[in-house]
This record gives sequence, C-alpha cells and structure tokens, in this order.
Amino acid sequence: PAAGEPLLEVQEARKEFGGLVAVDNLSFSLQGGEILGLIGPNGAGKSTSFDLITGVQPLTAGGVAFAGRTIGGRGPEAIAALGVARSFQHVKLVPDMSVLENVALGAHLRGSAGAVQGILRLDRAEERSIFAEAARQVERVGLAAQMHQPAGSLALGQMRIVEIARALALDPALVLLDEPAAGLRRMEKQDLADLLRRLQADGMSVLLVEHDMEFVMGVTDRLVVLDFGVKIAEGPPRQVQADPAVQEAYLGG
Ligand code: ADP
Ligand code: MG
Repeated sequence: PAAGEPLLEVQEARKEFGGLVAVDNLSFSLQGGEILGLIGPNGAGKSTSFDLITGVQPLTAGGVAFAGRTIGGRGPEAIAALGVARSFQHVKLVPDMSVLENVALGAHLRGSAGAVQGILRLDRAEERSIFAEAARQVERVGLAAQMHQPAGSLALGQMRIVEIARALALDPALVLLDEPAAGLRRMEKQDLADLLRRLQADGMSVLLVEHDMEFVMGVTDRLVVLDFGVKIAEGPPRQVQADPAVQEAYLGG
C-alpha cells in the first residue's frame, strides 16, 4: 500500500444469515506490520469477519480492501493469491500426511485453486519448488525435526504451528489466525507468542482472533472488540481491557 495507507481496510461490512445479522456495519483497518486482535464473546461475529475478509463468505453489504485493492466479492483463491492467508478455528491438517506435505498443500495454493487435486497435476519442477518452499517454512517456524512425521502424531501446539507454516507457505503479507491458542498448554502458548513476534519482526502483519485474554494482551498491538456483530471498542489492549462496555460484554451483561 501507499505510505500511510492501511494494509487491510474493512469498510462497513455486513453479513446476514437469514434474519440474523452476524456482522453489522463493521469498519476497522490494520496497518502493515501490526498484530491486531479481533476479540469478543462467543457468537460475536469474529469467524464470520474472517470469512468475509478471505472471501469464504460473500458480504451482504460493505467492502474490504487489501493493499489498496478491493477484495470484497473475490473468491478465496484469488484473495489468497493476493497475499491474505488464514488458519481455521478447528485444525484442518491431514493427519496421515507429513508436516512437510501439509505445508506443501498451502504452498501449492499460491498457484491456482484446489490444493489436493492440483498437487497431483504438478510437473516435477513445480513439485520440487513447492516442497523446497514448504521445507523453508517448516524450518522458519522451528519444526525441522518434525518435518517428516505424520501431522496427526504431533502435540496440539505443534499442529497449530504447522497450520501457521501452511498459511506462511502462501507467501502472504497478512495472516489471519482464528483462535490459535485455544486448548494449548502454557508453554505452547509461549512458543506461539514467540513465533508471532518473530513473524512481526520479519515484517508480517497478523489479524488474530483469540479468546484467551492473557495471550491477546501479551501479543497484540491493538484490539477491536465485537459484540453481537457490532464493534464496541477499539484501541490499545490495556485501554480496551479497562473499557466498561467491554467488561459488560464479557460478563454477559
Ligand atoms: P464467533 O467466531 O465470534 O464466535 P461467528 O462469526 O462464528 O462468531 O458467528 C456469529 C453469528 O453468526 C452466530 O450467531 C452464529 O451462530 C452465526 N453464524 C455463523 N456462521 C453461520 C452460518 N454459516 N449460517 C448461519 N449462521 C451462522
Ligand atoms: Mg469463531
């Protein structure tokens, strides 16, 4: 993006499912190099916001711009190819495939659509370059020793990191992570936080949906808070945490 222009801009985004408004007139922006947290109680519209940004769900109204281009209305492969990668709330690794192969599925998405079908159609040179890139990402996230193990044999914390490596294999400018710390042990959360900081130091931008407040407070630069699809607060983590409207939403008031 041009100087001062946000990397990601969500513009009055709205998503209805039947009569339910899951995301209601949501606007926020993320600057390049920022780790922005998107938080809120269960059902607040966080995952749906991710779906709107990544093209998994069409917007009912409003727009999304990435690096100065309109991406609202494009499909998930096109948006991924422009440099927006994501992980999902529930682990979607192929358990019988190795760590490297799982990450290679992500690398393949840089080309065209259809990871598994597509990977079967690659010629040898393409395949070699994809696996080389996947190996580079596995090393980058610190899982070189687990590279050839089945993904399903790893601890949950390592599986989450494999998912991040798979997203990184797209060579994105922005990664969206949906509850990466959920269910992790304290040490695993620390490893994950360290990884996010290292990625940020490399220039990566991160949009993080997370329930674990301690984790969020430690790793984000800024927070956007949703409740019932509406943005109720935005700002530095400490300020947002002290906001009465935010406390009310979390206490189920
Ligand atoms: P969060 O991730 O913040 O917990 P979600 O974005 O998953 O919340 O959900 C927001 C609201 O939209 C919830 O009320 C949820 O039930 C509803 N919702 C999400 N996805 C769908 C869908 N595909 N069809 C119908 N309703 C949905
Ligand atoms: Mg969710």
